[in-house]
Amino acid sequence: MKKDQSRIIREQAPRSATREHSVPLYLTSSFIFDSAEQGRAIFAEEEEGMVYSRYANPNTSEFINRVCALENAEAGLAFASGMAAVFASFAAFIEAGDHIVSSRAIFGSTHQLLTQQFPKWGVTYSYVDTANIDEWEKAIQPNTKIVFLESPSNPGLELYDLEKLGALKKKYPNVIFSIDNCFATPYLQKPLHFGFDLSIHSATKYMDGQGRVLGGVIVGSKELINKLMFFIRHTGPAMSPFNAWVLSKSLETLGLRMDRHCSNAYALAETLEQHSEIKDVKYPFLPSHPQYELAKKQMKAGGGIVTFEVKGGKERAFQFIDELEMIRYTSNLGDSRTIATHPATTTHAKLTEEERINLGIHPGTIRLSVGLEDKEDIIGDIIQALEKTK
Ligand SMILES: *Cc1c(COP(=O)(O)O)cnc(C)c1O
Repeated sequence: MKKDQSRIIREQAPRSATREHSVPLYLTSSFIFDSAEQGRAIFAEEEEGMVYSRYANPNTSEFINRVCALENAEAGLAFASGMAAVFASFAAFIEAGDHIVSSRAIFGSTHQLLTQQFPKWGVTYSYVDTANIDEWEKAIQPNTKIVFLESPSNPGLELYDLEKLGALKKKYPNVIFSIDNCFATPYLQKPLHFGFDLSIHSATKYMDGQGRVLGGVIVGSKELINKLMFFIRHTGPAMSPFNAWVLSKSLETLGLRMDRHCSNAYALAETLEQHSEIKDVKYPFLPSHPQYELAKKQMKAGGGIVTFEVKGGKERAFQFIDELEMIRYTSNLGDSRTIATHPATTTHAKLTEEERINLGIHPGTIRLSVGLEDKEDIIGDIIQALEKTK
């Protein structure tokens, strides 16, 4: 079998009669049947074939196949956004009376689903705060349907032990173990390898990598993906063929881009750690990270996010952001352009001060999504903004 990068690039939708080299954009809502008999056979699932773009389309199928190749997954599905994927990963499986175990540090909208939406449907949840595997096991109840987590977490960059969680899955075979793998990407971290059932991504982030389109994807076993397929066929959160075409092309450079995101982020984290105006720097591949050994075990590199705390609290953090010259303040991440955000007043503003501190979010905390610019310019911009606001 070819290695990752070659498979990604060579996995391609079937060539059309035009003999194109690069895959065209299939903007068509439906596909024709050669005969009434073929229509019957495809609907009866006796014959494989495209029917309607809410179910499948050559562009979305190519995108899915590429993510499957990267994660060594049997099957996958594409969604209109990352949240459509996260929502489906729960909604397709839960029933009234079920219970969900989740890491506490999760994406804001996922937190809203667990705390606001699912309770209306009679589904309860428990949050786990720690990487301690005993605490995870304690949280599992007889009615637990799903164990969910994000690793590394946002923005605290804490990790959960995927190998130990995979072993826990073996003990609870009927519980679905799923992970939002968006921060790490399938290039840096392959949760299915550790025994997870589902790996979920907001493709909007590193998969697109250039801040253009929304998308989501879930990969896992054929059995679970078939159940999810029923859900999306009849609820309609399908990815548009245009977005799939953009995202599939982007995957060809995912590895190259991630290598550069990671080396830039590492260089920045190392520099900031030495800087007198910075209190605390978090980056999984810095030896000072409390879970450095775990990071090395389950990730290929540390990723593109660096979180740090400036001295002087919120006022200094605001001044710092306003003094940045090249780096922009916007609520995205995983872009080729470096992005700064202030989690306490944006993504995590709805939490209480105490909840924020629990997640490692202080008034002076800045989350940096390190881009693909030259590292000297990224570091230079940050240092000049720190110096100006002393
Ligand atoms: C952005 C993000 C999402 C949501 O994805 P969208 O494509 O914006 O819907 C989910 N999880 C994580 C970790 C994210 O960063």
